[in-house]
Amino acid sequence: MTTEAQRSGTHRRIDTTAKRRIAFAAVAVTGVAAAGATGAGAATVQKSGDSQKIALAADSQNLAQGAGVPDVQAAAQVLSVPQSQQISDLAGQLDSAVQFAQQRVTADLQSRAPETVKPTDGTYTSGFEVRWGTMHKGIDLAAPLGTPIVAAQKGTVIDAGPASGFGNWVRIKHDDGTITVYGHMQTIDVTVGQQVTAGQKIAGVGSEGFSTGPHCHFEVYPDGVNAIDPVGWLADRGINV
Ligand SMILES: [Zn+2]
Repeated sequence: MTTEAQRSGTHRRIDTTAKRRIAFAAVAVTGVAAAGATGAGAATVQKSGDSQKIALAADSQNLAQGAGVPDVQAAAQVLSVPQSQQISDLAGQLDSAVQFAQQRVTADLQSRAPETVKPTDGTYTSGFEVRWGTMHKGIDLAAPLGTPIVAAQKGTVIDAGPASGFGNWVRIKHDDGTITVYGHMQTIDVTVGQQVTAGQKIAGVGSEGFSTGPHCHFEVYPDGVNAIDPVGWLADRGINV
């Protein structure tokens, strides 16, 4: 027969057991809670550490991809391989620039070179006129022996050597067909077929052949056959004798 007390006791036992279970559960929960809290705290710390690591990683990322480091990387690249490559290119560019400058200087000098030059730096002593009963087909420019005689214009040497009356002569055919003649020279610096430029020395003043003193005899044949007064021909080209 179950008494009330027994029931109660049972109930109490049950309650006690339940309380113990509850308490155990509570302790267990507390332990879990504590463990969880600790775990959470550790996790937090760990997370905090990860966050810092992530933050550091992010900073590294920023440093690697940000505005600052690319300069460092770029600078490092510029200072290493690309720079040496650029130096090599610069050397080549400098060579090209020097060559280009030299070509420009040459072209500039050629463009500035006079098209017509006075045959020799001498004194005008005789003109294009009848003299001593014969036609003097040129002009005489008196100058000391050896004074350079130069090509009046660029052209091709068609004669260079002894010639009757001239002692020695040089004849040059120019681009437009004009032929110029130089006479009485003591020395000759060119040979037949040679290309000469305006002002290039072709001979040295002499008194060879029919001559009364050192001078350069100069003739001009615009059509290659008929002589004209060299004074006018030179004057038309800016040269006064
Ligand atoms: Zn003469």
